[in-house]
Amino acid sequence: MRIAINGIGVAGPTLAYWLRLYGHKPVLFEKAPALRRGGYVVDFWGSGYDVADRMQLIPDLTSDGYIIKELRGVNRQGRTRTRLKVKALQDLTQGRFLTIARSDLAARIFAACDGIAAHFGCAIAELDDDGAGVDVTLTDGRRDRFDLVIGADGLHSHIRTLAFGPQRDFERRTGLAVAAFMLPGYRPRDELTYVQHTLPHRQLSRIALRNDQTLILCVFATEAALPHDLAGQKALIADIYAKTGWEAPAILSRLDRVDELYLDRVSQIRMPDWSRGRVALLGDAAACASLLAGEGTGLAMTEAYVLAGELHKASGDYRAAFAAYHDRMGNHLQRKQDAALKFSGFFVPRSWGALFLRDLATNLAAIPFLTRWLVGASLNLDFTLPAYQRP
Ligand SMILES: Cc1cc2nc3c(=O)[nH]c(=O)nc-3n(C[C@H](O)[C@H](O)[C@H](O)COP(=O)(O)OP(=O)(O)OC[C@H]3O[C@@H](n4cnc5c(N)ncnc54)[C@H](O)[C@@H]3O)c2cc1C
Repeated sequence: MRIAINGIGVAGPTLAYWLRLYGHKPVLFEKAPALRRGGYVVDFWGSGYDVADRMQLIPDLTSDGYIIKELRGVNRQGRTRTRLKVKALQDLTQGRFLTIARSDLAARIFAACDGIAAHFGCAIAELDDDGAGVDVTLTDGRRDRFDLVIGADGLHSHIRTLAFGPQRDFERRTGLAVAAFMLPGYRPRDELTYVQHTLPHRQLSRIALRNDQTLILCVFATEAALPHDLAGQKALIADIYAKTGWEAPAILSRLDRVDELYLDRVSQIRMPDWSRGRVALLGDAAACASLLAGEGTGLAMTEAYVLAGELHKASGDYRAAFAAYHDRMGNHLQRKQDAALKFSGFFVPRSWGALFLRDLATNLAAIPFLTRWLVGASLNLDFTLPAYQRP
């Protein structure tokens, strides 16, 4: 089949890779003019790690990524309040756990799609599914026809809006927002350490990356609409973190020189099903679990692997394949989403009491025999990749 995939992030190119292997003809579309750079880092593990392994990507991902050693919580004066060795996570996952820039992960997956048609700065604008195929109008005005269309275009998926309706019908807001930006040459640096300062309703973290870059991550509670312009976004962050203590003054003083900033709501996408006729959704577009799950990239890759495998298994019966894809993944994704929501108060506590309990739990989790119990349960390593016959 000729299959259009909207979105060249993590899910889209993973799907393209497996579809080509099974003899289909995927065509990728991306609204950005090139692969997105910068952004934030992700923890990468679980079934997505297994998919990457089957794509022979692990050596490259390991060389691009980081094996973070410690999560350190500090108070207003910078003194350590909590310490968790990441080796515990490494042990629980048999060493199959790394931290990597989302953009580096996406770039390695895309590189594995060499030879697959990919259009940047050109996306699907309109769809018309007539039952026998899908007519597509592109943002540059061209038209094309495909057997299937897959929306892999992230949390704010345009394909979802076209085929299923407005985002508000499926979005579950967490009441949190996230901002991420890079500071070159920032000091102090703590190599391979995630340093985090938390107050009720807001968290500020830094992670030292290669090339003397430091990633700053801000997660905070807000119900207000977020500004779209860079100046408004910087003003919001400056306002929220004004009286935060720790290194906030030094970080905010450099905000002026930041020219790329990621800011978005922390939301989930919850849908009863992921397909309409010949159109289906994948990754964050279908079932965003949010950064609170710490596994969105791996889940997106797993969904892509399963969707491609089910299309192959169903020998062209896309209806059966879409149903089997949802049957296999739907409950699993919902459990991940539920667990992520429970983690929300842990990530950004809503009171001093909740912050105290969180720090206590983190320090308890650092005691080796409690690690498996407290941290291991939250990993939910309970999904085994189905085996699909290779052609
Ligand atoms: C701050 C933060 C921290 C996170 N931490 C982790 C973590 O630790 N571990 C983890 O695994 N995950 C983490 N995640 C989640 C993870 O990034 C996502 O779940 C994952 O990237 C989803 O992949 P995707 O391909 O579905 O979507 P995306 O990676 O968002 O890719 C979607 C692509 O579609 C493109 N696009 C958007 N609209 C259109 C359109 N209309 N037409 C064409 N193309 C379009 C976008 O430009 C993008 O390239 C985090 C997310 C955030 C925001």
